Amino acid sequence: MANEATGKNAPARAKGPPRVAGTVDSVVPGLAWPALPAPEVMAALALHEQFLHSEWWPAARLEAMQYRQLTVLLSHAKRSVPHYRALLPASGTVGPGLLRSLPVLSRVQVQENPATLASNAVPKPHQPVNAVRSSGSTGRPVELKVTAISSLFRRALYLREHRWHGRDFGLAAATIRNFRDGSGMPPEGKRAPGWGYGYATRPIGALNIRATVDQQLDWLARQRPAYVSTFPTNLRALATEALARGIKLEGIRQFSTYAESLPVGLRDLVRRAFGVALADIYSSEETGPIAFQCPKHEERYHVQSENLIVEVVDEAGRPCPHGVAGRVLVTDLHNLATPLIRYEIGDHAETGPACDCGRGLPVISRVLGRTRNMLRLPDGRTRWPSMPSGDELGRIAPVRQFQLVQKDLQHLHLVLVAARPLSADEEKRVKAAFASDIGEHWQIAVSYAKEIARTAGGKYEDFRCEVTA
Ligand SMILES: [Zn+2]
Repeated sequence: MANEATGKNAPARAKGPPRVAGTVDSVVPGLAWPALPAPEVMAALALHEQFLHSEWWPAARLEAMQYRQLTVLLSHAKRSVPHYRALLPASGTVGPGLLRSLPVLSRVQVQENPATLASNAVPKPHQPVNAVRSSGSTGRPVELKVTAISSLFRRALYLREHRWHGRDFGLAAATIRNFRDGSGMPPEGKRAPGWGYGYATRPIGALNIRATVDQQLDWLARQRPAYVSTFPTNLRALATEALARGIKLEGIRQFSTYAESLPVGLRDLVRRAFGVALADIYSSEETGPIAFQCPKHEERYHVQSENLIVEVVDEAGRPCPHGVAGRVLVTDLHNLATPLIRYEIGDHAETGPACDCGRGLPVISRVLGRTRNMLRLPDGRTRWPSMPSGDELGRIAPVRQFQLVQKDLQHLHLVLVAARPLSADEEKRVKAAFASDIGEHWQIAVSYAKEIARTAGGKYEDFRCEVTA
């Protein structure tokens, strides 16, 4: 049988029956349907098959299995990672108590000592090892090593995300994202590989996010995708412009967003502009997917517990009760190349009670965003800057984009991108809208810009704090 499958007489894929969009391609000659895909695809499907069951497990069972894997991870880290050699206990029952007793790993530690955090004995079946680089918006990026097994887990989890949101792999998809090499510019953009997972699909249309909003809308109108994935602030710009110009994009079924926290009111805005919903993903370059939007509840995310443990803790390191924002710590259970144990990813989030969809995967009820972008109050405390939605501002004046920058403990600088200069009265009302959300005691200076620059990673920031602690 093996010879039949791999022998020199085996027909090449091209000689097999024609591919059918949205179904799995078989790599075994004489087998058209159901298909047997390539081994690396089968591995992802084998993990996904287990996720089909584990997502319904009670929280306690999920946790017990996580600690089983954590035991393996900790002993590997103690044995082969210089940073953890002295830090980790020689033995002990691995459970929540032990995990919470371990020190938090900061982003700065990963930036400054990548070598001491790397394993010098990655087991062969986990290799090869690749470097990933986070698109840090300020300062140095974080670089770390990720095993082939860890990448496999990430792919299998993204397959779950597609399933949760009911996507049809036979339909056209498009992505508007950051290409560091400057490729994918309009008018044509470029072609990215299809959905993967062995499915026969069309290539995905890809456009560089540095294209103007007009160019992006024109490109989408020509591409006619069913699914579009992009950054939330970019989707906000697309929806705002589409509403202003009366553009309807035909055929779109769903948007998916990632890489930034969702701006206030974005879901409603997208529904009004395009008549469809969006599915948001909470992820990081360092860890891959962290939580996916619940298939039943838009405002809820489920932690991907088969691959990581997420803790939300306060300033003193104590677990935050549900609904209270705290620092996000992630333990990646499967990356043996650079074990991240209680890694402070730099976000704030809130957990929530168990979800009535029936999944035992823990709930994150809100992802607030980057910790460094918190408003610093005169008394030294920090809090989340709540800000008016684009809609609210749009009702006052034709504001297309804004950025609020905290300069010191009294002054905020509001940069506006508007279709025309605002009247004195409009400017006063815009300032009042910000003051009612952020607090009355701030002095807000307004200036105008043609556009607000994206960060190196292609992102926008609605709020930036320039005050050092
Ligand atoms: Zn749910």
